[in-house]
Amino acid sequence: RRLGYAIVGLGGYADVILPRFAECRHSRVTALVSGSPEKARRYAERYGVPERGLYTYETFDSIRDNPDVDIVYVVLPNGMHHEYTLRAAAAGKHVMCEKPMANTAAEAEEMIAACRAAGRKLMIGYRCHFEAANREAMRIARSGEIGRPRVVTAEHGFTIGDPAQWRLNRALAGGGSLMDIGIYSLQAARYLTGEEPVEVTAVEATDRSDPRFREVEDRINFQLRFPSGALANCVSSYGSNHNRFRVVGDKGWVDAEPATAYSGNRLRRLKDWRTEDHPVPEAPQNQFSAQLDHLSQCVMTGVEPIVAGEEGLRDMRIIKAIYLSAREHRAVSL
Ligand code: NAD
Repeated sequence: RRLGYAIVGLGGYADVILPRFAECRHSRVTALVSGSPEKARRYAERYGVPERGLYTYETFDSIRDNPDVDIVYVVLPNGMHHEYTLRAAAAGKHVMCEKPMANTAAEAEEMIAACRAAGRKLMIGYRCHFEAANREAMRIARSGEIGRPRVVTAEHGFTIGDPAQWRLNRALAGGGSLMDIGIYSLQAARYLTGEEPVEVTAVEATDRSDPRFREVEDRINFQLRFPSGALANCVSSYGSNHNRFRVVGDKGWVDAEPATAYSGNRLRRLKDWRTEDHPVPEAPQNQFSAQLDHLSQCVMTGVEPIVAGEEGLRDMRIIKAIYLSAREHRAVSL
C-alpha cells in the first residue's frame, strides 16, 4: 500500500524530494500546498497530483477532509515548521517535518505534544540516517572495528550569498549556520558515537557589519564531550565550504568526504597505517525514498520512526546550549 503525502512549500528542497516518490514503494504524492496557484498547477501536472489535492496556505486546514492525504511533509522555512506541524496534527494527519525541527526547543516540545495528543506520528527529515555511506560509517564506528571512538571531527558549511534570503532572517531561520548546516555536524557526532553529549563549549565568529550577518551567526565551532570520554570537534559555517567527518578510535579511523551530500558520499579507512577507500554498500533505495517510505511503514505498522520528534528536540536542546556557551564564553552542561 502507498500512503499519500502532501508537500507543503514548493521551494528548492521540495524539488529534490518530489522526483524521489517515483522510487518509493509505500509513498506517493497526493497533495501540494503553495502560495502560488499557478506554481501548484504546474507541479501538479508534473507529479500527477489531482486538482482536488491543491491547497494554498489559507485553505491548508481543509486538508482534513482529503482522505488521499495521510502525511503532511513540512518543507517550509524553519520558523514556519511549528505552525504547520500543529495545523497538520489538528487536521488529523501524520507529519514529516524538515530539519531543524523548529526555531526553539520550546516549539519542538509543543510539536511533539500536539502530534501525540492527535495520535499521529512525527518524524524529522534527517535523511543521513537512511543514506548508505552514513549508515556504514555508523556501523564501523559503533562495531569496535576502529576500537573505541575517541575523537569525532565533523565539518559542515557553505558560503552563503543573497543577504535577503530567509536563511539570514532570524524570525524565519531561528539562527544562522548552526540551525541550517552545522546541525549536520551535531547529528554526525551523535549518530557516529551513538551517545548523547554531556557538555558543550562553543566559539563564534561573525562580522556583524557584513550585510548577510545582521541577524544571524556566520561561523560557530563547538566541542562535545560524551559519557564514554569521546570528544567531538565540530565546524558550522556560512563563510566557507565544508562537508566531511572522521571518527578516530583507539585502533583506527573511518572518514567521509563528501559526507552528507545528496549523492556521491565516499568513505575511507586507515588500514595497516595506510589510507584506503572503503566501498559504500549497495542500498536498495536512495536516502530520500527510504526516508519517505520509513514514515509510511511506521504509520502502517504503528512503530515509532528512528528519527522521531524526540530526536529533533534533542538537537534543539543541544543547539540552545551551544549558543549559550558561545554567548557566555563558558562550558555548558547538558
Ligand atoms: P526555499 O527557500 O528553497 O523554499 C522555501 C519554500 O517556502 C518556498 O517555496 C517559499 O515560497 C515557501 N515560503 C512560504 N512562506 C514563506 C516565507 N514567509 N518566506 C520564505 N519562503 C516562504 O528553502 P528550502 O531550501 O527548500 O528549505 C526548506 C526547508 O527544508 C528548511 O527547513 C530547510 O532547512 C530544509 N532543507 C533540508 C534539506 C535536507 O537535506 N534535509 C535540504 C535543504 C533544505
